[in-house]
Amino acid sequence: MSEQKRYKLERVGPADVVQLYAEGFEQLNSKEKTFIYYLYLAALAGRDITIEQHHRHALEVRDLFEQIFQHQENIDSEVRPKISSYLKLFWINNGFYDNLTSRKFVPECTFEQFKNACMTAARNGAQFDVAGETLEAKLERLKKVVFDPNYEPMLTNKTPGKDFTAGSAVNFYSRNLSYNEVQAWAKTGQEKYPLNSYVAKEKGRIVEKVWRAGGEGVPPGVYAADLKAVIKYLEQAIPFASSEYQAETIRKLIRYFKTGSLEDFRQYNIHWVKDDSKVDFIMGFIEVYLDPRGQKAEWEASAFYTDPEQTRLMQNLAKFAQYFEDKAPWKNEYKKKIEHSPIANVINVAVETGGTGPVSPIGINLPNEQAIRQQYGSKSVLLHNIVDAYEKSQGKVLVKEFAWDQLEIEMEEKFGSLADNLHTAMHEVIGHGSGKVSDKLQGRDPADFLPGYYNTLEEARADLVALWNAWDEKLVDIGLARGKGEARQIGETMYRQQIRVTLTQLRRIEKSDQLEEDHMKSRALIGHYIMENSNAVKVETREGKTYYHVVDFEAARKSTGELLAELMRIKAEGDLRAATALIDRYGLKVDTNLRDEVQQRVKKLDIASYTGFVMPQLEPVVNGGGKITDVKVSYPLDLAKQMLEYSRFTRAEKAAMAKQK
Ligand SMILES: [Zn+2]
Repeated sequence: MSEQKRYKLERVGPADVVQLYAEGFEQLNSKEKTFIYYLYLAALAGRDITIEQHHRHALEVRDLFEQIFQHQENIDSEVRPKISSYLKLFWINNGFYDNLTSRKFVPECTFEQFKNACMTAARNGAQFDVAGETLEAKLERLKKVVFDPNYEPMLTNKTPGKDFTAGSAVNFYSRNLSYNEVQAWAKTGQEKYPLNSYVAKEKGRIVEKVWRAGGEGVPPGVYAADLKAVIKYLEQAIPFASSEYQAETIRKLIRYFKTGSLEDFRQYNIHWVKDDSKVDFIMGFIEVYLDPRGQKAEWEASAFYTDPEQTRLMQNLAKFAQYFEDKAPWKNEYKKKIEHSPIANVINVAVETGGTGPVSPIGINLPNEQAIRQQYGSKSVLLHNIVDAYEKSQGKVLVKEFAWDQLEIEMEEKFGSLADNLHTAMHEVIGHGSGKVSDKLQGRDPADFLPGYYNTLEEARADLVALWNAWDEKLVDIGLARGKGEARQIGETMYRQQIRVTLTQLRRIEKSDQLEEDHMKSRALIGHYIMENSNAVKVETREGKTYYHVVDFEAARKSTGELLAELMRIKAEGDLRAATALIDRYGLKVDTNLRDEVQQRVKKLDIASYTGFVMPQLEPVVNGGGKITDVKVSYPLDLAKQMLEYSRFTRAEKAAMAKQK
């Protein structure tokens, strides 16, 4: 069966477009399917929030390009594909900044060609939204935004010495605010909505504009129409929740969307983290990677359901969380007593939008707030059908190019996918959730002490926990390896993968001389630290090609332990100076000659830097009484078709909500 499925659909610039399959959806019962269906609509309804967060003009730009795309007749045949490629990359990235390099991308046609295409599309019946201005004036106004790569060039800029806030285009702070101003203001305790507000300077005063729907006695804020539409579908989902407990989870989330209050979000998280329902979701302002200060969160929404077979293994790992905590290499004072063993599920995704779609993570661990993790535990999910679609669409060409010898290739073929899955599982289940911070932080989140550095540090810490335990004998008891020998081989494969990625990830940064994305920085930190502080890795060259060859796994593990202990100390103590020194030294700058070599080698292989997924499509089967009796899943195999439908849906929902008042 699976041979007939189409995974890779097309290639657009640096991205592969891949169809995602909702494996096992048909086996759910109709109540579960209906529940997912309403969550799916809620996820779609919130999608434009992310796009507007990425740039204050991003929705306007998208609408222009979507109109041209839908009215293409008689547009110059050389210009047409350039407009389509730009729009597809926009859809995949939720805006015109590359999700890996954080840099702006621009269309390959000229502004004049674009303008002509707009005029032609207008004659073909395109409806451009030009409230209060002419189309020409609108295009002129957006010219720099779309066509000038040097105008607001970075989505998020954390270059040491640069102004993090003014230098980042992300739509979290008004353009007239400097980093120092925001930090000084936040220090006075006036930042009441750190996660979900836009910070503006108006008439010399700094104010927060909260992202909320309004209700419960609170006035509406930014994104009110979007959030009201989300709430409408969440309310419809409630009767189909698996239990009264889960219904309450949703009610708490709705309350938070109405008030925007941090305390309501905490109450929701405390409830959600204990909810182990088969169908589950993540929705809201969650991850803070895009904020140079690490405070404001990007909108994301996912609905998913567990894969029972795979989940058993993950839950076994979670049961041993205390065992792994006890044998961590950090000081005893940073070891925590695990009172609730973390929830760990292997899931299949039905839909992801915003921060998690079309580009998707492979594992998620939440909530992010350290105090909740310490007190109430955490929940991890491994995204099974996403990982599967990655593997089916990519193959092993990259490994063959960058592996030093035949042994490395054979080990990868035999144990690569086991090692990869184990790495993700340990990263999420026993990595992020581990460790305890010092009382000196007085209950404040360590992220507050490490602005610009916390995310990189935390990602590295979770990876290092996986490496530290890579061939632990308990993995055999858990059922993740069939014997000590196999555990060792899986573990060694994991180290090879971790070191190799230090090299191969250079393919994803184009001509940057430094890394921007937190996961990439964390991988560089680990790889370079091990290489410079031990003899575990030999740098070999053959026919002008560079290889990172792991020669001593014990030495690599020893080095892993040193770095892990230090990162835990930095997090626990909020030691910004030490974080800066380590990450700037090992995780930031790139050897540009090596970068060019890697990119040349990869160019010949023709592989993508990242993947945008086309989501499954859900459609209700409704009986004569208007009741949903079943939900059908289908696969569009077409990015443009799906994205245009999503845009249409969200636009209509927002318009209806705006009218409702
Ligand atoms: Zn992580």
